[in-house]
Formats: sequence, structure tokens, C-alpha cells
Amino acid sequence: MDNDGRILDEFLELVQVDSVSGKERRIADLLLKKLTDLGLSVWEDDAGQKSGSNAGNVIGNLPGTGQGPSLLLCAHMDTVQPGCGVKPVVADGVVRSSGDTILGADDKAGIVAILESLRLVRENNTEHGGLAVAFTIWEESGLFGAKNLDCQAIGAKVGFVLDSDGDPGTIVTQAPSHDHIGVTVRGRAAHAGIKPEDGINAIQVAAYAIAQMQLGRIDEETTSNIGIISGGNAVNIVPDSVTLEGEARSLNTEKRLRQTSQMCLAIEEAAKKYGAEADIVTELLYPDYHLAADSLPVRIAVEAARNLGLESRLVKTGGGSDANIFNSKGIAAAVLGIGMKKVHTTEEYITTDNLVENARYLFEIIKVAQKITA
Ligand code: ZN
Ligand code: CA
Repeated sequence: MDNDGRILDEFLELVQVDSVSGKERRIADLLLKKLTDLGLSVWEDDAGQKSGSNAGNVIGNLPGTGQGPSLLLCAHMDTVQPGCGVKPVVADGVVRSSGDTILGADDKAGIVAILESLRLVRENNTEHGGLAVAFTIWEESGLFGAKNLDCQAIGAKVGFVLDSDGDPGTIVTQAPSHDHIGVTVRGRAAHAGIKPEDGINAIQVAAYAIAQMQLGRIDEETTSNIGIISGGNAVNIVPDSVTLEGEARSLNTEKRLRQTSQMCLAIEEAAKKYGAEADIVTELLYPDYHLAADSLPVRIAVEAARNLGLESRLVKTGGGSDANIFNSKGIAAAVLGIGMKKVHTTEEYITTDNLVENARYLFEIIKVAQKITA
């Protein structure tokens, strides 16, 4: 079979293995076997026990044969819902789902690119400075695999995370930090018809607080949202409790902190105004990262794109990925566009050309890394 055919076949194989977040066991077993067959030393870490998934991160290592920096190649194994029973349909050079599930190109297109690039390294006896592979669990809404990965043990100083929707040649050099904000507003219950003056309406307190907040796009680097609100038990009871969940993100740490504290302040002031109480818990879910144009991963990715005649584009994103965690743990990691489209929807698709291009590009990255000087 030609290389293009085996890439498509492997992609179709992987998307049909259910692997929604926290239930990556089946795909982890398959990938442990595939990496072993490719000659890597392979293990599974304890991220599953730590996060509550039924599988850990699948890690592979190929000792270096050349002088270049050792590279971490990463893609995540989990998918969002509805992700079970995917039936891929290939037509006119495009792979889609049958319409009632996602496809799972996010991020199985990244996985096949890594597997194929390892196959090419093996077939061509390509020199490299050491290749580490991490197929992570539970990236979607959690980054739990990356957070529980022992980056020290991985050893690589440069990483590529194949997990962005831009076309091949897209290099994500900036991603935001992200605060989660959880709030419980406590008012006081009362009969709404007989004794409303005894009550403190937690819904009204929450509504007032939200109305004072700046939400949406705050500036070029900063966004915020209230995404969940729930509370109240009956129409004739003044509600005593409301919970809110929101977030603030920014490429700039100061701005994120300012946005989060403004949202918290709006809640505290609303609570004070109405005599309610508010419990607020904020949590930094991941830190931001910024890769300079002359950083190793960016130089390698740009040069590899040039060698293949791909247009390279350095972009910033409003979303987090495993790369945010790796960068905070000492691996300079760039996210690469792999051409997946309409991810997290049942209309998700990817072209067979991009599946092939991704593998060629990653193989070129491995070769360029060998020649680049730090
Ligand atoms: Zn993804
Ligand atoms: Ca995703």
C-alpha cells in the first residue's frame, strides 16, 4: 500500500475507536501496541489514577541517533461528545462523520501524523536527536493528561503539539492563561406571596452582579464569560441560592487577573447591596505561553514549512491546549495546525490531503531539527 493509503486507513481505524474524555482505555491499548511495533520503548503513566480516567498517558521513546535537540511529539487521545460509534465517511477527498457524532480528527489527525512520521523515520533511517511521544488523556476541558505528565522524565526541551484547526503551516506561538470562577450566591428563602419581605432573592443578586460585569471580548488579548447559571426551586419561593460559573482569559497575565478581580468585585458588591452572601472560588486552569520568533520550535517549524513550500503563519489563539502546560514545565512547545475543521461539532471534517500533508510536515520537522543550531 502507498503511504497516502496507509495514513487514511490508520485515521479511519482510530476514529472508530471510542475515546471520549476519561474513557481512553481502548485507544490507549491500541496506541501502546502501535508504538511498540514502531520500535519505541513504551509505557503508560499514572495520569489515569490521578485524574479518574480509565487510562494513563501513552508515552514512547526513541533514543537519539544524531545531534539535534530531542523532540516531544504530542497529540491527545480523547474526544468531546458525541464521540461514540463514529462512522467515518470518505467522499471527494474529505473525511466526515455520518452526521450524528463528531469525527474526532481533533485530535486523531494529530495522532496519525505522529505515527506516520515515526514510520518514515524508521523506513528512511533518518537521524534524529531523540523522539519522545506523548499521547495524552483528557485534554478536552481539563488538560489532565498533560498536567499529570512527568515532563522531567520526558527529557525533551522542544515540543510540537498537533492540535490546532489551522492548515498545515499554522504555528500557534501565543495562547492565553485561563481563570475559572465559581460562585455561590446565598440569599434567604421566604414565601413569595405571604412574606416576600423576609427573603433575599439570590437570583436578583446574581442578575445584578452579572449586569455590572464586562463580558465577551474585553480587548485584543482578553475575553470573559459567564457560562452557567442555576438556582431557584419554585415560582412561589424567594430563591435562597444561585450558582454561577464563568471564566476570564488573557494573553496578558495582568489583564487576566484584573478581569477576574473585576468579576469577583461585581459579585461582592451585589451581595452587599442586597444583604446576601457570596462564596467565590477562582482557579487558574492553565498559564499562558509566548514563543518568540527565534525560539527553537518556531524556527524549526518555519524552516520545515519553507522546505515543503508550505506557507507558515505564526498565530495567537484564545484557547488552551497541552502546550500551555508543557511550556510551564520547561518544554518549549508550539501547537501546529493540522487542518481539522468545525471541531467539537457533528460537521467536523478533514481533507485526506491534510492528513498526508501533516505527516510529511512532521517528518520534515524532525529532519530540520537535526540541522538547526541552538
Ligand atoms: Zn484537540
Ligand atoms: Ca478540542
